Amino acid sequence: MVKDPVCGMQIDEKTAAGSSEYRGEMYYFCAPVCKARFDASPASYVNKDR
Ligand SMILES: [Zn+2]
Repeated sequence: MVKDPVCGMQIDEKTAAGSSEYRGEMYYFCAPVCKARFDASPASYVNKDR
């Protein structure tokens, strides 16, 4: 299980609606709309370093 960074839902990466790579990490999404939001502004959903 992985966490959709946009909405926070726990999802199975095998059944995810979409995925994106950002800074060497894969992110998975529950729905195409979440992927679209992430792709538009990935930095606002990934706050690991700063
Ligand atoms: Zn989502």
